[in-house]
Amino acid sequence: MSVDECRSFFVSLGEPPYRANQVLEWVYHALASSYQEMTSIPTYLRRRLSEIAPLEGARVLARKKAREGTVKLLVGFADGNAVETVLMPHDYGLSLCVSSQVGCQMGCVFCASGLSGFVRNLSCGEMIAQLIAGSREAGAGRRVNSVVLMGTGEPLANYEQVLKFIRLINWNRGFGVGYRHITLSTCGLVPGIERLAGEGLPITLSVSLHAPDDETRSAIMKVSQVWGVSDVVRACVDYAERTGRRVTYEYSLIAGVNDSLAHADRLAHLIKGTLCHVNLIPLNPVPETGFARSPRQVVADFSKILTEAGIEVTIRREMGTDIDAACGQLRRRELARGKAGRR
Ligand code: SAH
Repeated sequence: MSVDECRSFFVSLGEPPYRANQVLEWVYHALASSYQEMTSIPTYLRRRLSEIAPLEGARVLARKKAREGTVKLLVGFADGNAVETVLMPHDYGLSLCVSSQVGCQMGCVFCASGLSGFVRNLSCGEMIAQLIAGSREAGAGRRVNSVVLMGTGEPLANYEQVLKFIRLINWNRGFGVGYRHITLSTCGLVPGIERLAGEGLPITLSVSLHAPDDETRSAIMKVSQVWGVSDVVRACVDYAERTGRRVTYEYSLIAGVNDSLAHADRLAHLIKGTLCHVNLIPLNPVPETGFARSPRQVVADFSKILTEAGIEVTIRREMGTDIDAACGQLRRRELARGKAGRR
């Protein structure tokens, strides 16, 4: 429930609306897992709430910790499905990568998320469950201070629930994640980007470009058949103009596919002078796809061309390659063992 929905819920029970703030604070700030812990709530109400609105909590089905502190969790839901959520330590704090769907229908050929097909959208509550699981994993005294919607699924294909989630985690008495510390990553659904630009939320938009021309992009991303590179870039430029926020282009470097110097030149040409930033991602190899990561020197040369064109570039720090880092890999492994849902 959003904070407003929760207020109406308490009013419908004949209770004062401020009970919503109290209960949500217990769940999202104190990470309470039962009504019994909520000592500021009268006993009769705690009993009633456990009957009519049981707290489902977050069930962690599997957990993998990498050497540098990254933890990947498999979070299970009531219907037997499960998704991955990843807690990452940075020098500026803890960030959590949240999934927005079970499986994915976008069909990017290098990604593990869609390999087992698409099952369903996640509800706002199921995304919140990932944040609760991540916050518990962080432990006492440490909080998740940034959230990236970069896990499995396409967030703009689950627009309403994702927006509800973003607004709810920003609520300052709950998780209190600042809008500027929330990033939404999309494969480039142009109408969704346009709609998001009108929400007035100062979040960061990250767009998976991965290629500077339609020919290269359609070979690796199915979505490119609907919206071409120029449509996507136009939507991003418009987003930056309307929101004043710099857009990030994600570019996963795949050996021999999109990593030539000609690709880098074309990319520089395409986005030069726009309010943006490029995040180069060395591909996380997914054995089923047959693609390989570009060699280190190729990544460096690619980056240099962009930098010389005056474009700001970062190379994504690799974390968790020893724990099935690519989106969807842990879930697939657990699926194979018959643990993570129906497919
Ligand atoms: N559907 C959204 C968010 C999920 S994926 C999107 O497409 O942006 C988050 C990022 O990881 C995207 O840029 C995606 O293209 C990239 N990605 C997926 N699989 C990858 C892999 N095996 N190696 C490197 N990047 C990958």
